[in-house]
Amino acid sequence: MEQDQVEPTEEAVDLVEYPLLPVRDAVVFPHMMIPLFVGRDRSLRAVDEALEADHRILIVTQRQAEIAEPTPEDLYTIGTIASIARMLRMPDGTTSILVEGLQRAKVVDFTQTRAFFRARAMPILEVVEEQPLTEALMRAALALFEKCVELSRSLSDDAYVTAMNAQDAGWLADVLAAHLDLDVDERQQLLETLDPVTRLQKLSILLAKELDVLELEDQIHSQVQEEVDKTQREFMLREQMKVIQQELGELDPLMQEKNELHEKIDASQMPDEVREKAEKELARLDAMPPMSPEMGIIRTYLDWLIELPWAEETKDNEDVVQVAKLLDEEHYGLPKAKERILEYISVRKLAGEKMRSPILCFVGPPGTGKTSLGKSIAKALGRNFVRVSLGGIRDEAEIRGHRRTYIGSLPGRVIQTMHRAKTVNPLFMLDEIDKLGTDFRGDPAAALLEVLDPEQNHAFSDHYLDVDYDLSKVMFITTANILDPIPPALQDRMEVIEFPGYIEEEKVEIAKRFLIPRQMEEHGLKDLRFSDRVLREMVREYCYEAGVRNLERAVATICRKGARAIAEGRKAPRHVSVQSLPKYLGPPQYSYGIMEEEDEVGLATGIAWTAGGGDTMAVEVTLMEGKGNLILTGQLGEVMQESAQAALSYARSHVADLGLKKRRFDKLDIHVHVPEGAIPKDGPSAGVTIATALVSALSSRPVHREVGMTGEITLRGRILGIGGFREKVLAAHRAGLKKVLLPKKNERDLQEIPRKVRRDMEFVFVERMDELLPLALVQPAPDSAKKHPRAGISS
Ligand code: ADP
Repeated sequence: MEQDQVEPTEEAVDLVEYPLLPVRDAVVFPHMMIPLFVGRDRSLRAVDEALEADHRILIVTQRQAEIAEPTPEDLYTIGTIASIARMLRMPDGTTSILVEGLQRAKVVDFTQTRAFFRARAMPILEVVEEQPLTEALMRAALALFEKCVELSRSLSDDAYVTAMNAQDAGWLADVLAAHLDLDVDERQQLLETLDPVTRLQKLSILLAKELDVLELEDQIHSQVQEEVDKTQREFMLREQMKVIQQELGELDPLMQEKNELHEKIDASQMPDEVREKAEKELARLDAMPPMSPEMGIIRTYLDWLIELPWAEETKDNEDVVQVAKLLDEEHYGLPKAKERILEYISVRKLAGEKMRSPILCFVGPPGTGKTSLGKSIAKALGRNFVRVSLGGIRDEAEIRGHRRTYIGSLPGRVIQTMHRAKTVNPLFMLDEIDKLGTDFRGDPAAALLEVLDPEQNHAFSDHYLDVDYDLSKVMFITTANILDPIPPALQDRMEVIEFPGYIEEEKVEIAKRFLIPRQMEEHGLKDLRFSDRVLREMVREYCYEAGVRNLERAVATICRKGARAIAEGRKAPRHVSVQSLPKYLGPPQYSYGIMEEEDEVGLATGIAWTAGGGDTMAVEVTLMEGKGNLILTGQLGEVMQESAQAALSYARSHVADLGLKKRRFDKLDIHVHVPEGAIPKDGPSAGVTIATALVSALSSRPVHREVGMTGEITLRGRILGIGGFREKVLAAHRAGLKKVLLPKKNERDLQEIPRKVRRDMEFVFVERMDELLPLALVQPAPDSAKKHPRAGISS
């Protein structure tokens, strides 16, 4: 750290000898008065020694403060000769001295190290030439220091006065060094900078840095102050405004809104615990600083609580006869559903409020009137009607809502729908309950269970609402196309009412009595007649479906064209003829009647059950030379592929019984194809159809084209029962098949089939493939192979 070599000048050769006081964390500069704490024994002795002589003492800083008993090597060599002005003994026995720095000195050698240090030192004289540069430097340093004193909260004005009175550059530098906030090393370095001008330059740099820091501090401080002032000012103004508004009898909009909320909560029919919750939230709103973003969230929440129905109720129409009449007025048929509603009303009349509403599940193909009957029931009972579709819901939160901590969160669909219902006892329709999904975000079916369970639904919990909501007075009706996908736990809660597909006659009747009058009215038409023949034609050629949705659309299309003719000033048609149908509806989309033109080899007609009702399904089998592969095409599902395998195994193992020619199956590829392109197909009930097509191909015997069939087969050729009996039979009837081959197991289901259909078709119930095959296959004709070139190859 010793930087400048001490150049012993001629005047400075006289050495002085004084007691030496080592100090730990201070550096004493000339012209500086400083109190020093004296603790160590050796130090006290040195002080005593000095006081006994001329009060002069040599003060030198330790290189490392933590050394308790320093040796001469532990001390810097440049120190300060000082004079002890006063010694004070403190009440606690410690001693401190007040010293005044006089002159820098370099320790030359130690004359005594025992008891205390005594050293010889060479005083350092500073000679500063009066130069303009020095003068300028002094002024600049002084100006900087003045600013520091102005900004700093620790430097007093006295410090500036002392600096101002310094008489040369070295002196000024020492005064500044004494006052600046520097650490011991930096101070010692300045002490050892013996050239006064260099020292003052170093200090100017330190001062400039200090000033930067002080200015920044000041800036931050004033910014903070400004902020504080601003909010205080706003607060004051707002308080004043309140007082003024009170004086004028006005309310500020915020207060007004809060008061309104308060009144609304009072006026609503919330149960007590909900009211408590609402009031708590309102109190939170009161305590909130204006413009806080949370205010909006609380306000929306309160609106939900206020607007939800809590007690508003409609009174049920209990007149059974009248309800029956109303239901019949709007819907044809559907006896089971109508009857169930009438029973409900009757029991309700006797049991009163104690009776829980039933939870009905309407199951049937699209367009069979599930939704519209639901609406009619609501109308007949005098309840409000609301509806929500569950199709594709995968997230539990869609049913139960998100917690309010999420930005933009809302109640779930159940509560949203109740909000729309406006009463606590609406007829609530949950559509497409069979299309509910599940994934990682929880199981919506579990939430629905809570909605539909009479034991739990008096306290339904929605995450957003955060208070229980009573759903027990709601009449729930769910709808589904098929029952299978509905979780069994949900099925358990509900009473299933089937909505079968309609047969042709029923469709014609529904069109005449309901669809046509409604569409004519909607299109402003007065008289347009559809004859039965036209309607039958429409049903057969344009609307191949289980329900009547497309039929209604077709009627609407015709009405629209009629309305347009009138609007354009043309003559309005009076009646719709069979010939004019293509003009209105385009070319026929289905050809009613037998599916194939001829009995064919390797082509059998199955009947399948789909979400849209039932449908016929052709199965084609072709044989080719090959390596014994079974090729399956037409988007067959796993179960259907397995039943194709089973059918093939059956055929192979019965080659002899079936009267088939012996074949080398290992030299044969068998291709089974189920057309109707991209529609995925599955289920075991195509088994008999595939087996029939296979045997037909293998034996070259064609299949009767007007025969339809369905059933699962076992390897031994037994035929097992099937589901969807009625839909399948109705589909076969729609397709114009004359004979259906069905599993024996399903014989008892025949009673569900309308008499008209039973009369139109022949039903044969079979238990085994060997009973079925003779009914399905054409008796062999001697030249059959020639007549049917698709008959396959012979081995
Ligand atoms: P779903 O809900 O079963 O899919 P919709 O209730 O939407 O079917 O019915 C489709 C249309 O068919 C509606 O306009 C409905 O009024 C009419 N409809 C269906 N069945 C009948 C019926 N039995 N009597 C009168 N109209 C019916």
